[in-house]
Amino acid sequence: MNHVIHRAEVAPQGSTDISVHPRMCPICEAYCGLLVEADSRTKKLVGIRGDHEDPFSKGFICAKGYSWTELHDDPNLIKTPLIKRDGKFVAATWEEAFDLIGERLNAICKKHGPDAVGFYFGNPIAHKVGLLYYTPPLLEILGSRNIYSASTVDTTPKFLSSGLMFGDCTAVPVPDVDRTDYFVIQGGNPVVSNGSLMTAPGMPKRIKAIRERGGKVIVIDPRFTETAEIADQHISIRPGTDPYFLLAIINVLFAENLVRLRHLDGKVRGIETVRALAAEYPPERVVAACTVPAEVIRQLAREFAKSDSAAWYGRFGTCTQSFGTVSSWLQDVINVLTGNVDRAGGMMFPVGIIPNVVFNDIFVGDVPPVNRWQTRVSGLPEFAGTFPNGALIEEIMTPGEGQIRAFITMAGNPVLSNPNSQGLSEAFENLDFMVSLDIYLNETTRHADVILPSPPHAMHSDFPAYFVHLMVRNVPKWSAPIFPLEENQRHDWQALSEIAARLAGITVEDFEEKQLQAMLKRFIADGKHPLAQSIDPLTARTALGEEPGPDRIYDLLIRTGRNGDAFGLDPDGLNLEKIKQYPHGLDLGPMIPRVDEALKTPDRKIDVAPAYIVADMDRLRAALPDYEQPNSMVMIGRRDPRTNNSWMHNLNVLVKGKNRCTALIHPDDAARLKLSAGALARVSTHIGAIELPVTITDTILPGVISIPHGWGHDKEGVELDIARLHPGANFNQIVDQRLMDVPSGNAILSGVPVTVEAVAAS
Ligand code: SF4
Repeated sequence: MNHVIHRAEVAPQGSTDISVHPRMCPICEAYCGLLVEADSRTKKLVGIRGDHEDPFSKGFICAKGYSWTELHDDPNLIKTPLIKRDGKFVAATWEEAFDLIGERLNAICKKHGPDAVGFYFGNPIAHKVGLLYYTPPLLEILGSRNIYSASTVDTTPKFLSSGLMFGDCTAVPVPDVDRTDYFVIQGGNPVVSNGSLMTAPGMPKRIKAIRERGGKVIVIDPRFTETAEIADQHISIRPGTDPYFLLAIINVLFAENLVRLRHLDGKVRGIETVRALAAEYPPERVVAACTVPAEVIRQLAREFAKSDSAAWYGRFGTCTQSFGTVSSWLQDVINVLTGNVDRAGGMMFPVGIIPNVVFNDIFVGDVPPVNRWQTRVSGLPEFAGTFPNGALIEEIMTPGEGQIRAFITMAGNPVLSNPNSQGLSEAFENLDFMVSLDIYLNETTRHADVILPSPPHAMHSDFPAYFVHLMVRNVPKWSAPIFPLEENQRHDWQALSEIAARLAGITVEDFEEKQLQAMLKRFIADGKHPLAQSIDPLTARTALGEEPGPDRIYDLLIRTGRNGDAFGLDPDGLNLEKIKQYPHGLDLGPMIPRVDEALKTPDRKIDVAPAYIVADMDRLRAALPDYEQPNSMVMIGRRDPRTNNSWMHNLNVLVKGKNRCTALIHPDDAARLKLSAGALARVSTHIGAIELPVTITDTILPGVISIPHGWGHDKEGVELDIARLHPGANFNQIVDQRLMDVPSGNAILSGVPVTVEAVAAS
């Protein structure tokens, strides 16, 4: 199938205006190389196929990748700025929109201070280089502490545990899937997600390759997932009990003398603390909670420790539980204790030709990048400059100094993707002013006063700016825009520059220059190139040219980076012009050992017992009896191969056919609850109820119900024509935003106690 061009239904027959463009798929973290057929006359994308010349993805493409053709000219895409007048959105000019935004935000900041303006960005900013590079300087000018992101929905625990163990929030060790002998996947389903916090296109092939070379793959999950289907072993675990399971593994490592730091000897501190903590949890102690036999735990610990190389990878399911940070931490403790961090085939720190420059907070002296300030109402901890999303509703709704009165959302739909959708909707209605930058009028942006449209991906250049620190191979790339902007379109970075300039009271040109000079100064001082500090700033500035935008920043980062040309001082080095000569990608090889460079802890050692996380162990101990004797069913999420973010539900090619928003339930539970296949179940918590059809399957643990995220497209005022035909039920309508993982403030979406009942037929 990968060799066949997938033509969109709109493809003109016999057109002579079609050209083929190598691009990176903009939809998920895998960043697959695609060949995109574009019609220059109609400005449509008319065909997509996997790019076999891409050295990283080698032709792989999934169903979502094909949907780009439909996304590109979805009639629901917003084409012009919209301003709400008398409750209705009307088309406006960019100047009108920018003027209104500048006037209202400045007035609110002046009267109430910068914290009165909140800001939320969704994960698509990682695929929009303009947003990625222009958001940090905008936030700096805004000066608000009320910054929120999609991360505390599903990822912050991993960033936090990495930040405290290795000293850098973005130093997340990534499994070296192409060389490992033993791969443990806990709470992740990379066959469906195509990898998360791990950029490795074509995960099904890569997983199969582990087995073909004699390795072993283990999946730990409450559900027999699509990844479990191609693994050697599936270990079914009760949702939320992963930290006990992990402590039991560590207990075995110590008890059976299996700890061997190998090359990490002398670089690790806190081992005795971990030994003492794990001593409380021999496998037999956790069996009742985890529902995993003690011998299975022992066997796994032994095999993992004795493998030549092994990688323990944890994702969504382990981040989104009551002890998300503890789970994320313990996974990497296992990797460290078995000498599998910074080792080929283990968990490594990716090296790219550019550094990740976004939200890469590190220790300053002895001060870790967490809890340096707290939310106003509940005192929740900041992490890497952002607050837990669970604080948003109360920060908007609670009067007083510092109350959020205006809000900016960017490339996100928090009303659907965050807990307590209804509460968040009501909170947004309570704002004095709201701006959204988005492609759609969706469940969130309908609350805005101004919506700025983001142009389609095909209209901007692209390069792996964010995922560079998650890629299992170092494959730089740059893709040209397929179409130029139309007259009434603006790049995302142009829109952010205009807002930033109005907030700062300077011209856009001055904002651009200031930002560039600051980056230049920073990377002449901190660039990884050995000659970076010898770069002449004036020579560099001249070389970067006068064309503003993210490409110029990419060039700067390449040239001051480890493989760069140091602005001519290293003529064999790379710059953007050279990267452009490899439109399918330039393969610079696998990850390399670099722990000494990656570590940013105060003593440059790996801290396997960070005090901030260890402080959560009393809570963990106290919770064990609840897991041993659960008194209700629990809900977990689910990713479907055809969805990623909520906006994908507006693409017919992805939602047509069978209903994908169903609840998975075990036959024993179905029989007990008198639910037949396809019957409606009512799933409720103390904050609400949803109804959706059930799929009965023995692939899920009894006592667990699995419901996918991102559905619930039945709200008034939304212009998502396809999604409204397939509304589905909203998982987040019944999740309490106040329930969080304590150290990180991450939402709890896995192991949520729920009541499940059959809906009586009317
Ligand atoms: S795996 Fe991700 S990046 Fe690759 S084609 Fe599918 S959606 Fe695109």
